[in-house]
Amino acid sequence: MQEGGAIDLKMRVIRWSVKLKVNPRIVRIYPMRRKWGSCSSAGVVTLAMDLADREPEFRDFVIAHELLHLRYPHHNQLFKAVITAHIPNWRKLDLSR
Ligand SMILES: [Zn+2]
Repeated sequence: MQEGGAIDLKMRVIRWSVKLKVNPRIVRIYPMRRKWGSCSSAGVVTLAMDLADREPEFRDFVIAHELLHLRYPHHNQLFKAVITAHIPNWRKLDLSR
């Protein structure tokens, strides 16, 4: 992860938290092998360290996705509607790794 990468991710988390009206309890940047991010029911949002090396659009998508899980635990219709409102082309972005 390049210098400033964690700060960039945390700044984006703050911006998206305001936009999506959510309030994560803890945000951590952590090495993750199988995922780009996760969100626990206790309000802990974890982002993969190397997410900082991906393009800004992808960073925003992962962050918005995980933060939205604070409101909707499942990928239901509401979840998808809100993501689509903010990131219309999200279906072209691939979360797998
Ligand atoms: Zn999800």
